[in-house]
Amino acid sequence: MFNKLIFKKQQLKFMIFNLIAFTVIFTIFSIIIFGQVQNTLFSKTDEELLSFQEMMTDNNPKGLRLPLKDGDLDRPIPNDERRKNAPNPRMIVIHWDNAGNIRNENEIGTLFYENYLTDYKLDKTTMDKITMTKISELYHFRYILFEDHNDEDEIAYTQLMINVDAEQTIISNFEKLFIIWSVIFIVLSISASFILSKKMMKPIIHSWNKQAEFVENASHELRTPLTIIQNKLELLLTAPQERISDRFENIALSLSETRRLSKLTSDLLTLARADSAETQIMKQSIHIDTFIRSVCTPYKEIAESQDKHFSLNCQSPFTIEADETRLHQLIVILVDNALKYTSENDSIRVKTYGEDQKVVIEVSDTGIGIKEENIQYIFDRFYREDKARTRETGGMGLGLSIAQWIVSMHNGTIHVISNQNKGTTFIVKLQK
Ligand code: ADP
Repeated sequence: MFNKLIFKKQQLKFMIFNLIAFTVIFTIFSIIIFGQVQNTLFSKTDEELLSFQEMMTDNNPKGLRLPLKDGDLDRPIPNDERRKNAPNPRMIVIHWDNAGNIRNENEIGTLFYENYLTDYKLDKTTMDKITMTKISELYHFRYILFEDHNDEDEIAYTQLMINVDAEQTIISNFEKLFIIWSVIFIVLSISASFILSKKMMKPIIHSWNKQAEFVENASHELRTPLTIIQNKLELLLTAPQERISDRFENIALSLSETRRLSKLTSDLLTLARADSAETQIMKQSIHIDTFIRSVCTPYKEIAESQDKHFSLNCQSPFTIEADETRLHQLIVILVDNALKYTSENDSIRVKTYGEDQKVVIEVSDTGIGIKEENIQYIFDRFYREDKARTRETGGMGLGLSIAQWIVSMHNGTIHVISNQNKGTTFIVKLQK
């Protein structure tokens, strides 16, 4: 219940983080797109305004010329020559005098002037800068206003204007679309954040549960031998006058449980270290066949003492880089299991050989094997196929988890092939 609350809180946090991230990305993206669209739409208009201003003022670095008028030359002006420097037909040129009166109503066109410009005032706040304006609260224009003088000094300012209603319509449509898409995006990003945060929580909940299960199993495993030792010691205390030889069984059992405890704590420590991020392997050059022979020799003797056949087939005269202590632990786990899960007259074989760029170590036995449906669990912590039997053999279900961790620390692989009642083969592959 308490965990669920923590998980829910964490999921909400993830969701908010995701939502903020999405919103920031979308906002930046939209600002860039919006700015680009606006710039592109107005760039041609602005260019025309500036070019024409350059033509009309003395500052004419591009050598542009004003369109020719009749009378400029003493010959009739051909149309194409007249058009050469003519402004965009959308351009309106307004000449203002110092008092703010329009001086060229005739050039502008009476209709346009009377309909729209009679109330239009000279605004000197933005000189020499391209500005947006609205005429009759309806028509959008982009203009540039600059100081100008004619021969009679009647004209004080010139204003170049271009109607940009078409561009403005595109922008307002874009704005509307943008609002609609923002709403859709908000709904989508809330759902995406929810799904993502749920996905992010999944591995956390999984490892939390695994950890809780691990602690529970560990405490259970620790409690059993401790209870046995406590009982046996209490029993000994009830008869202090008796000799050790009389209570031999109790002492032997306590000792074996102590050994079991010691092995368990050391396995738990290995797994706890495996879970932490520290790297715990110290690699060195190891000649595989020599190493396997030296690790297996004592087990050969144990096998023989149990009437089991033990054979070694070493065909891997290679040297690999590995952690000697961990590799030793790996072989011991596999050979120890082979011994635990075989009976009299069964065979155990350790074989090494090279395959591509890998060294293969096979540990096989003709023992009880593993049920097909259980093979998937054998590398899980505390998993034991037959709990009653493994208590006798001393197994706690941690060996193969440690083996798997050791192999993965060496970038290798471990596989198992097993047939119930026919035997088991563990195949470890390590990089040469
Ligand atoms: P344990 O300490 O119980 O042996 P392991 O992690 O080493 O724990 O093995 C997990 C389980 O896999 C064992 O309990 C056993 O059921 C099965 N197992 C492992 N090795 C063998 C084998 N060679 N033959 C049959 N079963 C095996």
